[in-house]
Formats: sequence, C-alpha cells, structure tokens
Amino acid sequence: MTESHYPDTQLLIANTWVDAQDGRKQEVLNPANGHIIGHVACASLQDLDQALAAAQAGFNDWRAMPAYKRAEIMRKAAALLRERAVHIARLMTQEQGKPLQESQAEVLAGASTLEWFADEGLRIYGRLVPARHPNMQQYVLKEPVGPVAAFTPWNFPINQVVRKLGAALATGCSFLCKAAEETPASPAALMQTFVDAGAPAGVVGLVYGDPEQISSYLIPHPIIRKVTFTGSTAVGKRLAALAGLHMKRTTMELGGHAPVIIARDANLEQAIHAMARAKFRNAGQVCISPTRFLVHRSLLDDVAQGLVHYAENLQLGDGLDAKTSLGPLANPRRISAMKLLVEDAHSQGARILTGGERLDTEGNFFTPTVISHLSTHTALFNQEPFGPIAGLWAFDDLDEAITEANRLPYGLAAYAFTRSYENVHKLLTRLETGMLWVNQAATPSPELPFGGVKESGYGSEGGPEALEAYLNTKAASVTAS
Ligand code: NAD
Repeated sequence: MTESHYPDTQLLIANTWVDAQDGRKQEVLNPANGHIIGHVACASLQDLDQALAAAQAGFNDWRAMPAYKRAEIMRKAAALLRERAVHIARLMTQEQGKPLQESQAEVLAGASTLEWFADEGLRIYGRLVPARHPNMQQYVLKEPVGPVAAFTPWNFPINQVVRKLGAALATGCSFLCKAAEETPASPAALMQTFVDAGAPAGVVGLVYGDPEQISSYLIPHPIIRKVTFTGSTAVGKRLAALAGLHMKRTTMELGGHAPVIIARDANLEQAIHAMARAKFRNAGQVCISPTRFLVHRSLLDDVAQGLVHYAENLQLGDGLDAKTSLGPLANPRRISAMKLLVEDAHSQGARILTGGERLDTEGNFFTPTVISHLSTHTALFNQEPFGPIAGLWAFDDLDEAITEANRLPYGLAAYAFTRSYENVHKLLTRLETGMLWVNQAATPSPELPFGGVKESGYGSEGGPEALEAYLNTKAASVTAS
C-alpha cells in the first residue's frame, strides 16, 4: 500500500513532453496524507502559443486522414490504456484519492469509451437531398469544427477527458486539454497512449497552469473553434459567456443536485442497495451523485437506517490499501464545504444520524454522513454537496416530491424507485432532468446521451449527440454546367 513511483508531469506540445518555458511548476499532493508526491508544469502564454500552433497543425493532418485510419489509432490507444490500466490506476489513486479498484474501473471504462467513439466516427454520414431542379444535386456535408479547447476537472481525471477526447477525435478535430492541476499524471498517461498509438503531432495536447489565465487565453483565440468544460455551474457560466462573445461552439457539463425519489411502493432493498453505493462512490464527488433523498414518509426511517448501516461499514483509508472502500476528499476545499453543510443542517434542526466530522488524522478524510429531517431551506438541500453526505426529506404525495425535485435550478441526474407504471410515466414526463434512472443506479455508457438541462449545462457527452457537437454542417447545391 506504500506510494509507488509518481512522476512529475510536463506539458504535451506537438507529441513532445516539455517543461514550461519559464520553468514554472506547482506541487501535486496526495489527498490521503498531504505529502508532496510530484510537480506539474504551469504553462506560460508562450507555451500556449506553441500548443495552439501544434493543435492547428494536428487538425490539418488529422482531418485529412481517412476515418478508418483515425479509428485504428483510437482503438490502438484504447488497447494501450487497457494494458497500462494497473499502473495508471495507481497514479490516479495517489493524486485523487479514490480506492484503487474505482481507479482501475475508470481507466478500463475510459478504454471502452474510446472504442465506442472510434467506431462511431466511421458512421458520420452526410445526406443527399432530392433537388427541385433536374440538373441539380444537393448535399449536406458534416465536417469537423476544428481545434477544440477542453477543460476537465479532478474528480474523474480520465473519464472526464475521454468523453470529450473521444468525440473530438472521432469527428476529425484536434484536442487541446487543460486538465486539473490536482490530478495531472493520469491524464498525461492517457495522452501518452495516443502518442504511442501513432497520432500525428498536435492531434492531442495537454497543458496545466493557472485555469483562469489559460481559459481566458484559449477560448477567444482564433485557432480554437470549440470549447468544452466540465466543472461547477459558476465557472461554466463565465466560460460560456466568454465563448459566446467570440461565437464559439460550447458543451457545458456542470453541477447537479440529484433527487432520489423513493415512492411508497418502492422495492426498499433495491433502492437502498443501489443508492447507498452510488452515494459514497468516489466519496460523493460525482456530478450525478444522489444527493437529495426524497422518501415517502412511511419509509423514511427504514431508508435512513439502511444508509446509516452502509455508511458505518465503509472502511475509510488510503485508496492504495486494498481494504479501503472510501478514500479521502480530493482537496481541503471539500472538507471546509462539508463542515459548513453539516453545521448549517444542525443549526436548522436536522438530525445527524452518522458521520459529520473530519477524521482527526492526516489527509482530507470526512466521515460518511447521513442527515435526516432536513428542511428544504438548508444549504445541503440547495448547494451541490459534492461530498459523502446523504440528506433525507419526507413527502406524502408523489406530486410533492416532483415539485421538490424540480425546485432547484439544476437538472442533471435524477433517480426514482417505484413499482407503478403510473408513477414512472409521471416521473418521465415531469422531472426536469437530463438523465433519469428508475429502479437502478446510474449506468452511464458512451452510447447514451450524458448531460443536463437548466443550470446543469447544455450539450451531451454521449450518443450521436456527442459527435454532432463537434461537427459543422455544410449545405451545398451543385448544378451541372
Ligand atoms: P471549481 O469550479 O473552482 O473548479 C472545477 C474545475 O474547473 C477544476 O478542474 C478547475 O481547475 C476548473 N476551473 C476553475 N476555474 C476555471 C477557469 N476560470 N477556467 C477554466 N477552468 C477552471 O471548483 P472546485 O473547488 O475545484 O470543485 C468544487 C465544485 O466544482 C463542486 O462543488 C462541483 O460543483 C464542481 N465540480 C463539478 C464536476 C463535475 O463533474 N461536473 C467536477 C469537479 C468539480
């Protein structure tokens, strides 16, 4: 369980790993113990200029390559990712904190996502539209939008990149990513698979540094034609506004506050089993994490007990330890946020059934927490918790639960447990959400759209919609001369 080798991370520009020209770098910490485990290079504007020039050159080469050859390179990169999964998972656990088996599953899921996009890229068809004149032919052509700037967070250092990278490369775009400075080594290992698989220089690029400086330079830059971001709604709104000012295409995958509606007729065992696991996965730092448990009053105590039982049996610890089922939070900011949510709930009369405290050890450990009898005025029921806290609220009538589910400006994920088709129909038609899972945990897969509505963002990171977001449509009419 000891820390294994963790490399320093450089910038990837034109298939070459380089330090920042001015030598700037920052520390990378292990959230399980606060130790400095490495450094990451911080790009200057000169580095960004080089990365942009490389992205333009990479785009020129990549778009000219037959789709079949592009798919071959993507599949090869995916195979290398599988081969290196054990090694990359150890890097991820050391920089992000999640248990090793979760890191490994994420790397393998990343390979599968890339494979799906590789194949889907072979099926980007235009159209031939019947014309109104006998000598005319009308075409609809699909073309790659151009070099993409992607901004990805630290909670799923690989998964958040591959959803964007897969769609961008499958459509013939080049991809310049600013991944999270907290978790730099695993995205770097992902990018290396593309270099090794034979992607031409500049098709993929990776930079780190000051997020504000990098996004405000890349988004308006004329080389960048598409912007994609995953992170908080507050930052997403700023980036979307900047992109709008420069008429750039955008995909925004932002915050959520997922309701879990447990109706009177739910299969209770199924609901608790699925939702307890989902709640504490990655210590709750998941945009689709179940966060507001809206439970029929007759079941409230049973659901609370089930969640408490699950939470109290979790083994907190360093993710490299095979016994660990709940790792630390990714950074100290999350600990402060959890404390404020718990204090606020307590001050408003809620019952802290278990947890609610920072562990008195090194590292960012917060005990898995279940809070019942919450008011909808509490901070926990209004701000995205992004941590290991489950909050419960009782309802008497399903309409009441739907109103509460829709009350917030978020609309990313929702869950429901019921045996009645009438209830399912009501939920399907009335919940304001981008994704709904009924009687099950989330099973996001690349073939299904993934994205939100309302302030959870727009655009989708799965299904054919994900590719459409990286394509321009060109209409052409040609008359025989
Ligand atoms: P944050 O909003 O400051 O950062 C989120 C991500 O955006 C980070 O990776 C960060 O590097 C990046 N970022 C921040 N400012 C940026 C800018 N000006 N330009 C480009 N990128 C920028 O929040 P945080 O403290 O790192 O995380 C906490 C909150 O972020 C959570 O409450 C959650 O709402 C949100 N978050 C969401 C996801 C998700 O999967 N949707 C992932 C991570 C964080």
